[in-house]
Amino acid sequence: MKIICIGRNYSEHAKEMKAETPSEPVFFMKPETALIKNGAPFYYPQFSKEVHYETEIVLRISKNGKNIEKKFAHSYYNEVTVGIDFTARDLQAQCKTKGLPWEMAKAFDGSAPIGGMVTVARYKNLQNIEFRLDINGKTVQQGNTKDMIFTCDTLIEYVSKFVTLKTGDLLFTGTPAGVGAVSIGDKLEGYIEGVKLFECEIK
Ligand code: ZN
Repeated sequence: MKIICIGRNYSEHAKEMKAETPSEPVFFMKPETALIKNGAPFYYPQFSKEVHYETEIVLRISKNGKNIEKKFAHSYYNEVTVGIDFTARDLQAQCKTKGLPWEMAKAFDGSAPIGGMVTVARYKNLQNIEFRLDINGKTVQQGNTKDMIFTCDTLIEYVSKFVTLKTGDLLFTGTPAGVGAVSIGDKLEGYIEGVKLFECEIK
């Protein structure tokens, strides 16, 4: 399986990163070794001094597809959760300065913890769900999928022009504003519509 991540899909986050609001989706990938599930801990990597959380809605691809039309896109995912796109912000800044790819800042081991999947059908409208991250019991980031620049279906259409989507692949749909640093000892909890789906401790 592969993990596809969308960059800059909320304009307030693009602004906080001093990046332009994109006219087309931006995507990048993480390998399977980035995945953390079932509440397993995240081990703070030695190569970074500034690991940031990016709280994101994550879709699980439910059937193989390429060149998927937007009107059919909804039938290619049926489960959703909340996850973290951990980013070594210090390394990412170096990559950006040098015009290099972001992999070392984004694709490292454990950089993609996700919560338990729930069925998409549970929500009346996937493009209007609230999600948030609490650290040590305090809410640090919140968003609503209605503020996405590109909807989930648009993202599926776009990404599948370039990359065949396969059952079990994950799509991280971008972070709202409010990203920040984590520290060893932090306890992260992610919620959709007030229901906790995600837990991860920083070790
Ligand atoms: Zn992200």
